[in-house]
Amino acid sequence: MSYSLKECGLTPKRIELLNKANIFNSDDLFSYYPYRYDVLESIPYKDWKVNDKVIFEGILISKPTTYKYRGNRSVSRFNVLSEDDVINVTIYNRHWVSQLTLEQKLVIIGKYEGNNKVTASNYYGKPIDEFLGINPVYPLVDKLTQKNVNESIKKAFNKLKDKIENIIPNEFIIRYRLLNKKDAIRMIHFPKSHNEIKLALRTLKYEEFLKFNVAINLIREANDSTTFNQGKSFNYDDVFVLANNLSFNLTKDQLRSVNEILDDLSSNKIMYRLLQGDVGSGKTLVAALGLYATFLSGKQGALLAPTEILAKQHYKSLKTLFRPTNVKIEVLYSALSTVKKKDLLDKLINKEIDILVGTHAILQDNVVFNDLGMVVADEQHRFGVKQREKLREKGDKVDFLLMSATPIPRTLAMILYGDMDISTIETMPKGRKPVKTYLINENSFMSVIDEIEEKLALSEQIYIICAAIEESENFEARNTVDIYNNLKEYFDGRYNVGLLHGKMKSEEKEDVMEEFSKNKIQVLISTTVIEVGVNVVNATVMIIYDAHRYGLSQLHQLRGRIQRGNKEGICYLLTDSKDEESLNRLNVLLKSNNGFEISAEDLRLRGPGDILGTRQSGVPGFILGDIFKDTKIINQSRIDAKEIIENKDKPDNNRFIKLIEKESTSYMD
Ligand code: ADP
Ligand code: MG
Repeated sequence: MSYSLKECGLTPKRIELLNKANIFNSDDLFSYYPYRYDVLESIPYKDWKVNDKVIFEGILISKPTTYKYRGNRSVSRFNVLSEDDVINVTIYNRHWVSQLTLEQKLVIIGKYEGNNKVTASNYYGKPIDEFLGINPVYPLVDKLTQKNVNESIKKAFNKLKDKIENIIPNEFIIRYRLLNKKDAIRMIHFPKSHNEIKLALRTLKYEEFLKFNVAINLIREANDSTTFNQGKSFNYDDVFVLANNLSFNLTKDQLRSVNEILDDLSSNKIMYRLLQGDVGSGKTLVAALGLYATFLSGKQGALLAPTEILAKQHYKSLKTLFRPTNVKIEVLYSALSTVKKKDLLDKLINKEIDILVGTHAILQDNVVFNDLGMVVADEQHRFGVKQREKLREKGDKVDFLLMSATPIPRTLAMILYGDMDISTIETMPKGRKPVKTYLINENSFMSVIDEIEEKLALSEQIYIICAAIEESENFEARNTVDIYNNLKEYFDGRYNVGLLHGKMKSEEKEDVMEEFSKNKIQVLISTTVIEVGVNVVNATVMIIYDAHRYGLSQLHQLRGRIQRGNKEGICYLLTDSKDEESLNRLNVLLKSNNGFEISAEDLRLRGPGDILGTRQSGVPGFILGDIFKDTKIINQSRIDAKEIIENKDKPDNNRFIKLIEKESTSYMD
């Protein structure tokens, strides 16, 4: 049970701030975990190391001396006797320390400089115990402060603590001596000791992985429960005839993947397979051959895309691919006119359509197939359990192929996906040049303007990506509208500048993409909607503002847009972040062009929740589930997830399953 932030006792102003961090209810708030803890411990002097943050108690043994500079600035020095050691303390801009009296007891917090010297950040007259402890540090966005988060959680917790229910079925809480949810929340946010953090993590990590594994199992179970008298029947050679028409040969990995899929299709069990491979590795073609086999067996197929633009792109490329055949293809999305929709649905039920490409509009109840036999879902993480279930119900033996451009190492995939079958395309088609990527430590277009002018002069085109659409949305990130206006002025009369974002009408978006692909627009300012956008071979440069705001896999997929033609792509990652961790993370993209490596790094930092799409953002994965280190918990939770599913009649298990179904369906475009 989750409560509104109002019910948590928070003010509208505070609620507005929290919303910016994607915190909308008590659940979000309580799972806004700290990403680290600041620990103030009193360590004996002999163990201090240079640059340590130290706190100590002592007696003032020398009258402070103060030197004043201009502008009210000052430096003061005094000595403190702490146990048997004399510490020289320096403190800036506290000229009033001269009023301290000798022999006064003080608590000093500061940095150890070596040689008995400490630069104090503060001093206090209160007992040291009031300062010692473990303080959580939260990720912050916008104007949110540590204090805001801390206070909000405290307030909500005090108000709701007696209403916080366990999520994990009780049986498992007892079996593994886990904490009650209420205690886990208290200990992760207000720990009294390291041990409390450890205990909280143990429970919360288990909960996270258990949810994840049950979600995976639910999908799997739906498919495993039935075996059929026979699989699809088709001739393998006939399928490959289609591939022989192409101007290139399938790569080894593509060939193997196709064969794996064809074997599944012809077996009497439902296929539930993940096809993973980097952007541009040729997954769509592999899927298309599967759809073709389905057609040859006399059944219909569907291809689901997360956005309209991508659906249309798939539609176009399938049309081209299937030109030598008599396969009939159509595309469905919500913006289609009622007349066209009706016509299409009539054809679908009469089997006058063999392959239907579309967005989640395909999931609607009025979309009825005559004999659906296979579904391909692109970017599978954007579809929840319920959506997949819906598709399965639209046919008899509906085989599933899920495509993901966020490839993960096989061993990890096995941990995360349990016994789901996996086909992997690891090698890229011949002749692909990696995108040259540069990190620019300035969030400004002007730092790369010469390079841009040069490319434009060569008639090449440019993508510019912003995190925000317009100003009000998130004023910390550069936004498309501002950049668009600036550049329109800058390139005035020389080059055409276009704007593309998710709030535009679909025809508008379509028009802009069309103009960009015809080179009527040379510079396209866009949000990540182009992540899955149309191929424009002549676009060779991509500039990404506020690059630190994206996941690595997402950046990698974005730059995949300019690795399409035979010209070398160049990607500039702009950021003014000084955060070392962010910069190190971005550096991975400079060194690697391998989607597996990149997503492994992403997973390490962000956690597996992103794969299922259950974790929207804001919560750093690495404080909780670490899929590299927590293999023990993962494996146990995997076994337990099976147990839960096999015993869904138990009320506690049932409640848990319902909860997960709800969570994973809320994730839709
Ligand atoms: P993905 O879906 O994995 O991102 P696509 O299937 O869209 O990749 O393929 C990207 C491009 O590469 C397409 O234009 C496709 O025709 C082409 N392609 C696919 N397989 C091969 C291959 N074996 N050799 C050369 N080009 C290929
Ligand atoms: Mg693709």
